[in-house]
Amino acid sequence: MDQLEQTTIDTQFNTQWDTLIVGGGPAGLSAALHLAFHGRTVLLLDRRTGPLFYTLTELWNVPGFVGQTGVSIQKTMRLEAQRAGAKLEAGSVSHISGMAGNFRLETEKGAVYHAKTVLLATGVARYHPLVNGKYEPWLKYAAKGNTYYCPDCEAPELLGQDIVVIGVGTANGALGAAIDLLEFAKRVRLLLIGSTEFTGAMLHKQEKLGLEVIVGQIADVDGAKGKVKAVILEDGTRVEADGYYIASPKLPRNDLAQQLELEITATGHIKTGWRGQVKRFDTPHEHWLEGVWAAGDVQPQTQQVSIAAGSGNIAAVMIDQYLTKLEPRRLGLEPGVRFVHPEKPSLSSQKPS
Ligand SMILES: Cc1cc2nc3c(=O)[nH]c(=O)nc-3n(C[C@H](O)[C@H](O)[C@H](O)COP(=O)(O)OP(=O)(O)OC[C@H]3O[C@@H](n4cnc5c(N)ncnc54)[C@H](O)[C@@H]3O)c2cc1C
Repeated sequence: MDQLEQTTIDTQFNTQWDTLIVGGGPAGLSAALHLAFHGRTVLLLDRRTGPLFYTLTELWNVPGFVGQTGVSIQKTMRLEAQRAGAKLEAGSVSHISGMAGNFRLETEKGAVYHAKTVLLATGVARYHPLVNGKYEPWLKYAAKGNTYYCPDCEAPELLGQDIVVIGVGTANGALGAAIDLLEFAKRVRLLLIGSTEFTGAMLHKQEKLGLEVIVGQIADVDGAKGKVKAVILEDGTRVEADGYYIASPKLPRNDLAQQLELEITATGHIKTGWRGQVKRFDTPHEHWLEGVWAAGDVQPQTQQVSIAAGSGNIAAVMIDQYLTKLEPRRLGLEPGVRFVHPEKPSLSSQKPS
């Protein structure tokens, strides 16, 4: 991009937002709701790859949303943040620079935004099983019927079922998931399509448990309407089960944190204080960096909707207090202001943008 084009885009987006939130899953949306409700100007940019955008199975452990699909929860949370006044836009942020009071964020398409504070709520990237070397064929089934990704969230749903754990990453990781599921399932087998070697303590655990291990690559999936009937291996073996649990590496999306030189844990999560405060990698313990917070799965914490939303809320309270420290407001003195309850149109008649 030449300099003239860059300047034009910069000028076009010269609003300075109180807070720019990167990531529109439960963490980012819950923060957007809180901040907008408190009268802050909030822009949320999201590339829309979060799990709830495509999860058609019901979630049973999210208070206030029990029995609703991920898609419906995501839609409701977006709508509520918008109703409070947050602006939600599609965009993939690729660059971040600046400091508290004036951050500059740029998207892959070259749009530039400025904000006083930033919340990183970018989640983790998960890997799907490859079918004939491609992940796309699996998307027809991912979280749509009888494929599962999160033992902490979903294990009780597998009560009394015959389950195959598909190990996409390490054999140890697959065995760890299988052990969690054994508390609920009738039978658990392992299908290892990634690494096949158990090591250290996990080797001993597998020797003790003696779980059936199948090794091979998936050539095809026999299924319909989001439900897998069988996975078919390259040697023709048909692996049938009631449900399929995907044990895959979960890689925190920490590229923006790296650009800000934030401290990252050994697992790739953004290291935070319990309120989502972050620090630069070379600064002393609890020397928090001004103006930036992180929330949700990108933090080193259990990956669940209510935990992500809660951490987004905590960070938003901190951001709001920080903004007040920068410049206290007297919103109540503005002529004619009254608190107006956001209108509550029925969710079914609303399409979040
Ligand atoms: C199949 C499946 C089923 C699950 N079931 C349950 C369940 O039953 N109960 C439960 O409690 N939890 C469940 N979870 C876990 C839950 O979905 C996550 O813990 C939760 O979504 C995390 O929220 P988050 O906001 O931190 O991140 P995410 O929801 O992952 O959202 C992050 C968003 O940030 C966006 N993003 C990332 N980088 C950028 C960037 N640079 N620019 C712009 N946007 C960006 C992504 O596209 C994404 O939309 C499940 C997860 C999966 C995968």
